[in-house]
Amino acid sequence: ADQASLAALTDWLRRFAAAVARDERHLTDLDAKIGDADHGSNLRRGTAAVVEALDADPPGDVGAAFKQAGMTLVKTVGGASGPLYGTFMLRFGTTAGAVDALDATALGTALRAGYDGVVARGKAEPGDKTMVDVLEPCLTVFDEAVAGGAGAAAAARAAADAAPERRDATAPLLARKGRASYLGERSVGHVDPGSASTTLLLESLADALAG
Ligand code: ADP
Ligand code: MG
Ligand code: MG
Repeated sequence: ADQASLAALTDWLRRFAAAVARDERHLTDLDAKIGDADHGSNLRRGTAAVVEALDADPPGDVGAAFKQAGMTLVKTVGGASGPLYGTFMLRFGTTAGAVDALDATALGTALRAGYDGVVARGKAEPGDKTMVDVLEPCLTVFDEAVAGGAGAAAAARAAADAAPERRDATAPLLARKGRASYLGERSVGHVDPGSASTTLLLESLADALAG
């Protein structure tokens, strides 16, 4: 679709929850190597609560949907990733506004606002071995696709296709933010768990817009 409807965007949240549930063990195994072995369980709890909130209190517009999702994540996910994903969703929703669809440009603007929120909150830069290492380059791919005439679905697919390589490229990096940074040199050689969950986030968006 050229546009991302409210239904497609709430489907994104549901698909992200399903992908996290499917890969919970893997995300936690990655976090066991360079963190405290809770990234999968943290995000599973939070994304399941997001789906429960969608079912209990169906939002009437895109802004309301992502404010609800963001507040739910901040409330239910312990750890660094809850406030970070929560801020992403809250800023996405505030920027999207009370609309029932986003075109490709508006979707790119909302995604970028979400990213800016993650950076404002976590102060990570590309290369610090965090979710930012996937988000930043993939949103640039999204913007370039839109500049080249792509609709929302095609741009989201291009961004998702770029994600696994960026995720895997976190392995040789030295962690400079979050718990993994406490390990210093011992963080080298392992994929960052947040970069893996952010890859799921982008793949879920592409799938939701394709469906
Ligand atoms: P915790 O580290 O508190 O247990 P999680 O395990 O749920 O939280 O999440 C860890 C992930 O959060 C990391 O893999 C990293 O991608 C991300 N992260 C941690 N700190 C930051 C930060 N300051 N900026 C961006 N992302 C961060
Ligand atoms: Mg952890
Ligand atoms: Mg923790």
